[in-house]
Amino acid sequence: MRMEEERAFIVDGRRLDGRAVDELRPIKMEVGVLHRADGSCYIEWGGNKVMAAVYGPREVHPRHLQESNRAIMRCRYNMASFSVEERRRPGPDRRSIEVSKVSREALEPVVFLGYYPRSVIDVFIEVLQADAGTRTAGINAASAALADAGIPMRNLVSACSVGKVDGELVLDLMKEEDNYGQADMPVAMTPRGEITLLQMDGHLTREEFERALEMAMQGCRRLYEIQRDALIRRYAAPEQPEPEKPEKPEEEPQESFEQDMEEFEESEEVSENDE
Ligand code: ADP
Repeated sequence: MRMEEERAFIVDGRRLDGRAVDELRPIKMEVGVLHRADGSCYIEWGGNKVMAAVYGPREVHPRHLQESNRAIMRCRYNMASFSVEERRRPGPDRRSIEVSKVSREALEPVVFLGYYPRSVIDVFIEVLQADAGTRTAGINAASAALADAGIPMRNLVSACSVGKVDGELVLDLMKEEDNYGQADMPVAMTPRGEITLLQMDGHLTREEFERALEMAMQGCRRLYEIQRDALIRRYAAPEQPEPEKPEKPEEEPQESFEQDMEEFEESEEVSENDE
């Protein structure tokens, strides 16, 4: 504990990776990357690499799970064995069952499940590389993948975490801050500010909580722009104009060139014969 207190995570207003306290890690997102899924999205967020795939709406198996008046949503969050420093034992554990549940609950409220009675929408979140914030990365990717699958939604869900290190609130914790920090609060919301996920690990005062929520809101807004841009890049790419046919010139330079060549060759033949 003493060691943890002595660690300096913020020096001259900068964090270990040089970020300001309210700065997100670099993010890249691409939609429609898996051709066999109905919708998909890949996100790189700092050291996190996460793939989301959506299947459905499709028939429910086993059938007793089906709901007569709406679709059900299933979500499976999984960390690959090679996603963390020490090989992770494959298969579900308590943490992945929890993250699967909260991710589903974060996404469900925006999907028009009532449009698809007796069917299922399956969401798979695969963490290929983890560096803290994988549940928020997964929710952002899954939300964009649902949109990519053409599933009607009220809005996108965007997520990011806020935490506290060295007594200061920081946006988007990286691994060291997550492990040794004083609080970690993942949040997911729609662009209208409707919160669909709010978890808290550690302690914040009421004032800190309110400020943290404000910071999370700013972060989610930025994530929403990134999701929207990724979808626009996929679906609103400007149509490629037909390649313009070169206009036929009035004079045919090709012909005159050929004529020149013929004349040249003739002259060459003549000079050869001369020799
Ligand atoms: P999140 O990834 O959403 O922040 P946690 O706070 O539970 O979720 O985990 C923080 C980070 O701890 C993960 O992103 C990952 O880098 C690391 N981690 C989680 N589970 C394991 C594990 N079983 N083995 C090694 N590292 C892990």
